[in-house]
Amino acid sequence: MNQTLFAVDGRTMLIVMLVSSVLMAAVLWFAFAGRFRDGLGKWTISLWVQAFAWLLFAGRGLIPDLLSIAAANGLLALAWSLQFAAIIEFRHRRVPHWLLWAPTAGIFILFLALTGSPRAQLAAGSWLYGAANVLVAAAVLRGRPRHIFRARWLLASCYLIAAVTLIVRGIGSWAEQEAFAAAMAPYAYEGLLYLGIYALIVAGSLAFLLMHKERSDEESSRLATTDPLTGVFNRRTFIELAEQELARTRRAGTPLALMMLDLDHFKRVNDTYGHLTGDEVLVSFTRLIRDCVRRGDLIVRYGGEEFCVLLPGTPLSAATALAERIRATTASSALTAKPFKVTVSIGLTAFTGDAVTALGDLLARADEALYRAKGEGRNCVVALPLAEGGAAEQRTLPLEHVG
Ligand code: GH3
Ligand code: MG
Ligand code: MG
Repeated sequence: MNQTLFAVDGRTMLIVMLVSSVLMAAVLWFAFAGRFRDGLGKWTISLWVQAFAWLLFAGRGLIPDLLSIAAANGLLALAWSLQFAAIIEFRHRRVPHWLLWAPTAGIFILFLALTGSPRAQLAAGSWLYGAANVLVAAAVLRGRPRHIFRARWLLASCYLIAAVTLIVRGIGSWAEQEAFAAAMAPYAYEGLLYLGIYALIVAGSLAFLLMHKERSDEESSRLATTDPLTGVFNRRTFIELAEQELARTRRAGTPLALMMLDLDHFKRVNDTYGHLTGDEVLVSFTRLIRDCVRRGDLIVRYGGEEFCVLLPGTPLSAATALAERIRATTASSALTAKPFKVTVSIGLTAFTGDAVTALGDLLARADEALYRAKGEGRNCVVALPLAEGGAAEQRTLPLEHVG
């Protein structure tokens, strides 16, 4: 092995790793102290523990082996367990306590037992830490988040690169290759390994931070675009998306319908059964609408107990049939565990793409139809073509009146 190609001094590298761990821990502490959450606290502690472990490793030959080998490796195991725990906590799961102390104690005892056999220590350390990195990478990649989190792959790659490097070292030291002979000597491979771990400290911490950032970005965008109670679009986002849909409809010359739904006597539900039950009704009602419409249809919570559905590619007749299905299903379903029924009044309108139409006109016409439905006695569907002078209004009268 060419030792001059990439020969670094082990102690120097360990000092570099110590300094970078302390710096990263200090930066995280400065940024998040007092509001550590979702594993950031455990990650920061893991960096402090790591720094202490690198310090003990660097003291090899200067301090007793019990400290520079057995204790240092025990601390390193603790640091990795803490990172594993941080990743589990990030996914809002609890970590059993034994996961922190058991690997630490196990590694400490193992290295104590292997005192006097440096080659066996090197091989055991390489294999065990290699396997630990594979496990942590698997924990990072486990589960299917709703969005593709790129930082997850960055963090997992850090662990996998470290794992491969360690496993190669394990094989090399087992095969008694000169290049892998000792941890502290300036051998090319050892230098590469330290460089890899150094990269893991820096890139790994950045990746873990980025995972938090990606998730909070996603949460804020969801909060900004949807209604927190029902999860459907809020009014602002609906208007933005509906304008785009309208433009597409005009270009394509296809039909488009707009439905406005308002729960009947909803105030009474709140007054009789309480606000929480009222909320439950709103959530179940949204699910009911979702089950009836198509994937591309836009659902919005337009006001308190008022919803709109935009139906691209749907003429008035088909939209009326759909509205009738929603009305009938609502009237016959139990929307909460309590024994009462809720009904809905629906107004709708539609136009075909060649007509020049503004979203405001559509909303106003659907609202007018809804107003008429309320006037008809509620629990019914009223459909009005968009054009004032258009065909006679189409009205679906309720089969029975409830409420
Ligand atoms: P109508 O048949 O004429 O529509 O009568 P209504 O009682 O449904 O209509 P009104 O506009 O008088 O009352 C709407 C009620 O909706 C009043 C309000 O307490 C309730 N509401 C609005 N937002 C929410 C909410 O987020 N949760 C709950 N539980 N109730 C809500
Ligand atoms: Mg109402
Ligand atoms: Mg209302």
